[in-house]
Amino acid sequence: MHRLGLVRDIDLALHLPLRYEDETRLSRLSRLRDGEAALVEGVVQDSRVESRGRRQLLVRLQEDPDGGDRGGELTLRFLNFHSGQQRQMAPGTRLRVRGELRGGFLGREMVHPVVRAVAEGEPLSASLTPVYPTSAGLPQAYLRKAVASGLHRAVLAEVLPPEAIPPGLPPLKEALRFLHHPPPGTDLEALHERHHPAWQRLKYDELLAQQISQQQARVERGRLTAPALRVAAGGLYEALLGVLPFALTGAQQRVVEEIAADLAGEGLDTTRPMHRLLQGDVGAGKTVVAALAAAVAIDAGWQCALMAPTEILAEQHFRKLVGWLLPLLEARGRTVAWLTGSRKGKARAQMVERVASGEAALVVGTHAVIQDDVHYARLGLAIVDEQHRFGVHQRLALRRKLAGGLEPHLLMMSATPIPRTLAMSYYADLDVSTIDELPPGRTPIVTKVFVDGRREEIVARIRDEAAGGRQVYWVCPLIEEAEEPPEGREPATAALAREQPALRNVIETHAMLEQALPGLAVGLVHGRLKAADKAAVMARFSAGELAVLVATTVIEVGVDVPNASLMVIEHAERFGLSQLHQLRGRVGRGSQASACVLLYSPPLSDSGKQRLKAMVETTDGFEIARRDLEIRGPGEFMGERQSGDAMLRFADLQEDEALLRAARQAAAALLRDHPEAAARHVSRWLGTKAELLKA
Ligand code: ADP
Ligand code: MG
Repeated sequence: MHRLGLVRDIDLALHLPLRYEDETRLSRLSRLRDGEAALVEGVVQDSRVESRGRRQLLVRLQEDPDGGDRGGELTLRFLNFHSGQQRQMAPGTRLRVRGELRGGFLGREMVHPVVRAVAEGEPLSASLTPVYPTSAGLPQAYLRKAVASGLHRAVLAEVLPPEAIPPGLPPLKEALRFLHHPPPGTDLEALHERHHPAWQRLKYDELLAQQISQQQARVERGRLTAPALRVAAGGLYEALLGVLPFALTGAQQRVVEEIAADLAGEGLDTTRPMHRLLQGDVGAGKTVVAALAAAVAIDAGWQCALMAPTEILAEQHFRKLVGWLLPLLEARGRTVAWLTGSRKGKARAQMVERVASGEAALVVGTHAVIQDDVHYARLGLAIVDEQHRFGVHQRLALRRKLAGGLEPHLLMMSATPIPRTLAMSYYADLDVSTIDELPPGRTPIVTKVFVDGRREEIVARIRDEAAGGRQVYWVCPLIEEAEEPPEGREPATAALAREQPALRNVIETHAMLEQALPGLAVGLVHGRLKAADKAAVMARFSAGELAVLVATTVIEVGVDVPNASLMVIEHAERFGLSQLHQLRGRVGRGSQASACVLLYSPPLSDSGKQRLKAMVETTDGFEIARRDLEIRGPGEFMGERQSGDAMLRFADLQEDEALLRAARQAAAALLRDHPEAAARHVSRWLGTKAELLKA
């Protein structure tokens, strides 16, 4: 519960259901259609274990055996079971069973239903049964009880003055009771879409808490000081511009100036710390901007730390940057320190020493750069790549790396664009720079959609690319069969997912390609590999030693191998649109024509069709973000959140833009006229997390 942040009663009250199960009524088997989920009741007639290719427990249930019409029959099928379960479902037991009805080989059946033994005539629930997001080891039934009692105990009196609440929204207490325990007959569809006024109230309150605390943070940050960092004539910044193999685009130039102005301050030795988000589509060229910002800090006599969320990114993405800067630094008697999880022992100690002595002007790595024992001589600027993949704690730790009452400047980079106006109204405490132009000379990536059967053609295409000296990515959605079930899903569903024969996995695909492409080196990288092994494979691919790289989404962001010209994505229908866009962005980074092939297996859902269509029709990240929102509708990809709003649990920045604007205004008015109400509201919503928001 602690891990889920469920500490106070109010936390429990605000832990809202993912969905609901209707146990307020029993269905008759004869009325149910194939594919319908329902609660039914019956008595076990017999139960036996069979081996139809695989050991399974089959329990035959008779609905209403003593009644006049004898009711219907139903088979329960369990592929994973233990002997205790079999005993619980012994003949003669009355069971209440919830699951999805299927017309199976054995007649009507439910696979892995949720089963409970009941007495005859046991009463049904009075309200819909909530299903909460949970994590491994925390049973749903336990959590349900805890939330119910937390909700009961929590003090939910209104803390906001009436003028701070938009008209038409119910009181908080009412909204919460409704959302946890909707009465029978509630339109679950509407509830799921989160348009119900009860949902609106929750979202509004959440956004209001964010806005209040960010507006406060902005005021507080104005009182903090950071060193003023200015470009030195004849320094690293100028030298770097001199060695770059290309000219900056207009957009790059503009954002570099925005950053340099923040760092320089207004002519004094200190200024307020920069807190800037640099967003730009995949391939827009954020890395060079980061390098130039680092050069400014180093010119001014300070250190710069660069942090990426994974070791692959740290090594791959920053290699180019370090390649530019290292010779220039060494010519000035300075160097670079690498800090990643896989660098240990003596090597690490040496790096840590370089950081502490200040010999390392640039410190590059994963979260290892902020570990407690890493002390900086003079950290002036911290740059965080793919900022949405970092926890706020890590960003806070980075900021604390500078002693003496000064704060380092903070530059965060993100490839998940959100419209600029929206970003600015949400991030009250963040300035936003956007690179809205791609480097010249890029041939647009051609995207094609193929049904999965046509593999020979694609394999032939790979041969062509390789013959021309170019490289290929092949991305698969799954690592291997036994993947952890996603959070909040029940194990039974995961077991079903495992059964899906259509899920090709990355290991099989690798074997298939090795066989189909004799003479070509095919590499394999996935999340289960050790960091050092991953890095080694990536290094070989970067160096051009591998023609093909079979990978999971570990390569999703940041990897930069300009020689790669073909991206094949298997089971593309299983990926979200923004993820597909990120993956496609791994090719088309050089001047040669590149292509992206999306393989799918029919049947395609409507939204799946639209996602693939959007990919074919546009390569513009902002347009993709807009389409994504249009297609997915709220809730479809729960948990897949846009950058930066990881702190939002209920509201969706684009979907709830109107609520956001209302909250923004109300926050300013509250801080001015009712600061105590503002403080109470924030502490109710964010508790101890309020501090984190300022990171
Ligand atoms: P991202 O914004 O996705 O991090 P990168 O910084 O990795 O993009 O840049 C993508 C590729 O474009 C790199 O190979 C980089 O060297 C190149 N690049 C960046 N800026 C320019 C430019 N102004 N002109 C030409 N190529 C550029
Ligand atoms: Mg990048």
